[in-house]
Amino acid sequence: MTARILDGKTISQRIVAQLAERTKLLISQGKRSPTLAVVLVGDNAASAIYVRNKKNACEKAGIRSISHELPSSTTQVALLDLVNQLNTDPEVDGILVQLPLPAHIDADAVTAAIDPAKDVDGFHSYNIGRLAQKMPLLRPCTPKGMMTLLEETGEDLVGKNAVVVGASNIVGRPMALELLMARCTVTVCHSATKELAEHVKRADIVVAAVGRPQFVKGDWIKPGAIVLDVGINRLDDDRITGDVEFEVAKEKASWITPVPGGVGPMTVASLMENTFIAAGLLED
Ligand code: NDP
Repeated sequence: MTARILDGKTISQRIVAQLAERTKLLISQGKRSPTLAVVLVGDNAASAIYVRNKKNACEKAGIRSISHELPSSTTQVALLDLVNQLNTDPEVDGILVQLPLPAHIDADAVTAAIDPAKDVDGFHSYNIGRLAQKMPLLRPCTPKGMMTLLEETGEDLVGKNAVVVGASNIVGRPMALELLMARCTVTVCHSATKELAEHVKRADIVVAAVGRPQFVKGDWIKPGAIVLDVGINRLDDDRITGDVEFEVAKEKASWITPVPGGVGPMTVASLMENTFIAAGLLED
C-alpha cells in the first residue's frame, strides 16, 4: 500500500482563500481587516524566513500585518514595553513574537506578557491550560494545523492509538492534548522513552516532532497508520527533510505528510485562523 499524501500546501491555500473571502465581506460592510502584529528580534535566518511566510499569508488572507523588526541588542525591558503597547492597542487583534529570541531575553517572560486574548501562537499558559481542560480558545498553531490535516483524512479518530514523539511546549505536548480531546489513546515519547520503536509500532497515528532527520524509521510504521511529520531539518546540501524516513514509511502508511509541504504550511494557516478568532470574526 502506498500512502495518500496529506497535502498541507494545498489545504492551507484553501483555508487562506476562504479567510480572504471573509475579509472581503467585512470590508464591504465597512469593517476593518483583522490585524496581526509580528515581532522579530535579531537576525536569525530561519526566523526571518518564517516571518516572511507569515506576512505573505497575511496578505493573501486579507489580514493587515504590522511588522516590528528589532535589533538583536534589544533589551528584555524594551521588548516587554512593546508587547504591553500592543496588548492595549485596540487596532491590534493578534500578537506574534517569533521564537527563538536572543539568549539575553527570557522567552517565557515575553510569552507570559502577551494578552492571552491576543496570543495567536497559543503558547501562553492560559491558552495551554484551556486546551488541557478541553475548553480551548487560541490553540497552538502547529498542533491545530495537524488536527485539520487529520480531519481531512475523513478517518474516525475516536479510540485510535496515537503516539507523539517529542514533548516540547509548542508542539509535542499540545498535540498530545489535542489528540486526547479527539478521544485518541495517547502516548507521548521523549528523550527518556525506552523502546521507542515498540511504541511507534502500535500507533494508528504517529506524530514525529523531534528535530532529527529520518529519526522515525519507516519499518516502525504500522500498516495503515497516519503519519504526521513536523520536523524541519536542513541537510548539509541545504535540502529540507522531516523526522520520518519518508520513502519507506509511505509504503506502509495510509496517509503521510511530506516535508516540505505538509505540516509547515498548516501552521501558517492556523495562525491566520487564530488571528480571525482573536478578532472575534471566526469561531473555532
Ligand atoms: P524541541 O527541540 O523543543 O523538542 C524536541 C523533542 O524531541 C523533545 O521533547 C525531546 O525530548 C524529544 N527528543 C529528543 N531526542 C529524542 C529521542 N532520542 N527520542 C525521543 N524523543 C526525543 O523541538 P520542537 O518541538 O520545537 O520542534 C521539533 C521539530 O519540529 C524541529 O525540527 C522543528 O524545526 C520542527 N517544527 C516545525 C514546525 C512546523 O510548522 N512544521 C513548527 C515547530 C517546530 P525531551 O523533552 O526529553 O528533551
